[in-house]
Amino acid sequence: MNNSSIDNSSALAVSPSGMPSQRHGARELGLAFSVHSRPQILEQLQSKPFDLLIIGGGITGAGIALDAASRGLRVALVEKNDFAFGTSSRSTKLIHGGLRYLKQLEFGLVKEVGSERAVVHKLAPHLVIPEKMLLPLSEGKSMGYWLTSIGLKIYDWLAGVKEEDRRRMLTRPQTLKAEPLLKKEGIKGGALYAEYRTDDARLTIEIMKTAARLGATVINYSKVVGFQYDAEGKINGVKVQDEISNHEFSVRAVVVVNATGPWVDEVRQADHTISGKRLHLTKGVHIVVDHSALPIQQAIYFEVADGRLIFAIPRYAKTYIGTTDTNYKGSKDEVTATQTDIQYLLDGVNQNFDGIQLQASQVESSWAGLRPLIHEEGKSESELSRKDEIFTWTSGLISIAGGKLTGYRKMAERVVDMVIQNDFSSRQFRACYSHEIRITEESFSNHEEVTKYRKNIAAILKESQLDSMADYLVANYGRQVDEILAYARKEKIITADSLLQAELEFCFQNEMIVKPEDFFNRRTGMIYFDNARLMKFKSAIEYFFESKRK
Ligand code: FAD
Repeated sequence: MNNSSIDNSSALAVSPSGMPSQRHGARELGLAFSVHSRPQILEQLQSKPFDLLIIGGGITGAGIALDAASRGLRVALVEKNDFAFGTSSRSTKLIHGGLRYLKQLEFGLVKEVGSERAVVHKLAPHLVIPEKMLLPLSEGKSMGYWLTSIGLKIYDWLAGVKEEDRRRMLTRPQTLKAEPLLKKEGIKGGALYAEYRTDDARLTIEIMKTAARLGATVINYSKVVGFQYDAEGKINGVKVQDEISNHEFSVRAVVVVNATGPWVDEVRQADHTISGKRLHLTKGVHIVVDHSALPIQQAIYFEVADGRLIFAIPRYAKTYIGTTDTNYKGSKDEVTATQTDIQYLLDGVNQNFDGIQLQASQVESSWAGLRPLIHEEGKSESELSRKDEIFTWTSGLISIAGGKLTGYRKMAERVVDMVIQNDFSSRQFRACYSHEIRITEESFSNHEEVTKYRKNIAAILKESQLDSMADYLVANYGRQVDEILAYARKEKIITADSLLQAELEFCFQNEMIVKPEDFFNRRTGMIYFDNARLMKFKSAIEYFFESKRK
């Protein structure tokens, strides 16, 4: 493989897809979002005073960084591992209203996250993609036909769903036509309703890149290990350990926000603020099988023996299934799926689909994540609210936990409003406008534009018989595929090798990858959805990182 770098100065006037390219942003406005810039970013963190420092580079921290930077605050964000290392790369990967929360009468939550779906889709139409969800209804299960019909109507109404996308109740034959693989016995009918699918880690990375473009100073592999206080005991900075060099340094900031998801209490403890509410962690597991092992036609939300609902979602050449919901007390840094978790999901599938007897040996990959929920005395794991909450302390530390991937923007708005009101009321800041800030450079205006672009990319890749990669590439990178293909074309004809090399270079230059797993897990999802490609290129990927280190 060729290891030369992408030459940004030769960015194309006309992109490979035939669309004009007006690439600008981080690389021209400030520091590149690249590991190359790490020394300068570290230097900035140590020398500049910040208005707001955010601990945690998941979707919550990224959303706050974007919102605060867009309103004019001087923002820093530090992440102890890679961006999206925590729950934000281990979700069900849906931008959804949480139908289940209607059962718990959480109308406010359903209204907020339900309405947010369309907003986040508009901000990144290639990455937040409409997906119809089938909810089969069977005899003897807890979801009755009429109650579901009314529930989904309320769901659509609360979320302000457009008429053409509203729920459609299905007869038994319509349900079985929508998904012929469902066990026929007991099916009374079903419902089709609108949701969106995404890639959680990519969404986080793109929001982080946008925050950086707007001026935020962000870095991964940098852990907050302590706080600094003024004479009145108010936090005025943090101590950070660079996890690559082990060097420790201080960052000054007027306000510090703790957006560390499952680690929120651990960070509060470092500030001695553990009192009152605390987190209750529950684990959720997903498994991936080849699509041919569970060849469903579409995404399904179905009820299993204990009355819980789980998803089966087709994605590229795979189907993924999840999730479990069990109390968790183990290590937050190494969360894994146990045999029991996997068997629970396999049993759920085997009981609901005709002719399917999935075995553990067919599971190609799995992931496990922690829900940072707020503890409520006497409530079981699945009864706990998914609402976000903000905790404040006399030291000034603001912590935010709970919530959903889907609601990141509104959570960020609440936090930034609070920060401005409490600490910067004498300065003028504009109101939140993150609903207008596209979360990739040169974003698409709508879904139709994405489809057209994807067709162009598939046509280009056809000559190399790589057109099946078009869906993945466009969903992953949007119009940034132009830059990747321009690089891959340096070899004249695009090959599987040159395409991989181009993706690596792109992520190295623009997405702050530091370790191989940053690339094959959180930038590409290859480890879950294209293990064959990962196996083929694993040593090449490792070689790439080694050569960059020299
Ligand atoms: P995290 O993503 O965990 O980020 C916290 C970050 O803080 C981590 O990256 C961590 O490394 C970092 N950190 C910790 N300590 C320090 C420190 N000392 N210094 C620096 N950094 C630190 N929501 C949806 O909307 N749709 C779904 O489909 C969905 N499915 C889900 C499925 C499962 C199984 C689970 C568990 C959750 C799901 N959710 C879903 C919820 C959603 O994923 C979470 O609410 C969200 O990802 C939480 O993000 P976060 O940024 O708060 O936390």
